[in-house]
Amino acid sequence: MRKVYMDYAATTYVKNEVLEEMMPYFTEKFGNPSSFYSISRETKIALDKARNRVAKALNCLSSEVYFTGGGSEADNWAIKGIASANKEKGNHIITTKIEHHAVLHTCEFLEKHGFEVTYLNVDKEGFVNLEELKNSITDKTILVSIMFANNEIGTIQPIKEIGSICREKGVIFHTDAVQALGNVKIDVQDMNIDLLSLAGHKIYGPKGVGALYIRKGIKIDNLIHGGGQERARRAGTENTASIVGLGKAVELAMENLEEHSKHLVKLRDKLIDGLLKIPNTKLNGPIGDRRLPGNVNVVFEYVKGDSIILNLDFAGICASSGSACTSGSLNPSHVLLAIGLPKASAEGSLRLTLGDDSTEEDVDIVLEVLPPIIERIRGASSP
Ligand SMILES: *Cc1c(COP(=O)(O)O)cnc(C)c1O
Repeated sequence: MRKVYMDYAATTYVKNEVLEEMMPYFTEKFGNPSSFYSISRETKIALDKARNRVAKALNCLSSEVYFTGGGSEADNWAIKGIASANKEKGNHIITTKIEHHAVLHTCEFLEKHGFEVTYLNVDKEGFVNLEELKNSITDKTILVSIMFANNEIGTIQPIKEIGSICREKGVIFHTDAVQALGNVKIDVQDMNIDLLSLAGHKIYGPKGVGALYIRKGIKIDNLIHGGGQERARRAGTENTASIVGLGKAVELAMENLEEHSKHLVKLRDKLIDGLLKIPNTKLNGPIGDRRLPGNVNVVFEYVKGDSIILNLDFAGICASSGSACTSGSLNPSHVLLAIGLPKASAEGSLRLTLGDDSTEEDVDIVLEVLPPIIERIRGASSP
């Protein structure tokens, strides 16, 4: 059976060029970058190279890039670090109802420790209302955290506009760009971004490695205390091989950005058109260039997402009913509820996300296999 992988938003494989650059750092180039002999200098130089590659992709200084243990850690650091370092100024944080749990659960944690959080609504397509954002900022607001692109429904926020609102009001702006990187152009200068999170395993790099961009001069406390690594801001011996892999993956993502998104958009729109031919099917999220190139999310009325995923798995197709973090639990996706879907509809959602290796044939297979599955499930559940 031909396997079709359509869950690239959950994670990607590691590209061969990335793995090749990583390999020596497990074996002969194993030196601790903090030591003072030649094999350590080698690893130190490799870290600098990775940092430069990330900086170039974001248009920031390499001294503003800090490597972390993934996207979740970068989000946690940004939010907790800003909160604790700026609590004299205020205790108010603004975010949205459709953030990744790495942001939402961090905010909920801070609420238990005296912070106040505003969770902005989004419209039917998942967009933040800029007026609502402006009106929510008070003298006590110390941070706005709004994701660049949503992992479930693909909505790309007007980040530049959000950035200028925050800059005008003198509020620090963090964005989770884990899904945006490699799919959308990012420029932290032009977009007035103060902090930005990214992760390796969503862009054909390794898992468990990411980075946080922190604009020079931003007041932030450390999350991981210990040694002097990452300019004494993120302790722990560097995950050298993975950082090298992240750097290479970021570089490739930048080189391939246009070709990659064009390829995905073509497949995405073909898949969307085909899926919407199934009766009682609706698209979640926007269309066109305000949607992530590889993201498809639909709701099949009168169907439960879990049974679709299982049936697709039997047919060799890997898909998701929302974000990987919520699958397995019975709660409907917080993102789908925030865009106004009733609970029952949100349970019948399907996310298919495309990647570099996706083909027209993959799309054809899904469009052939899925309609009878939906029909069968609906038939079985009708009275
Ligand atoms: C995957 C993801 C994360 C978490 O990144 P990890 O590296 O898995 O910790 C955070 N935010 C978004 C939008 C993501 O898609």
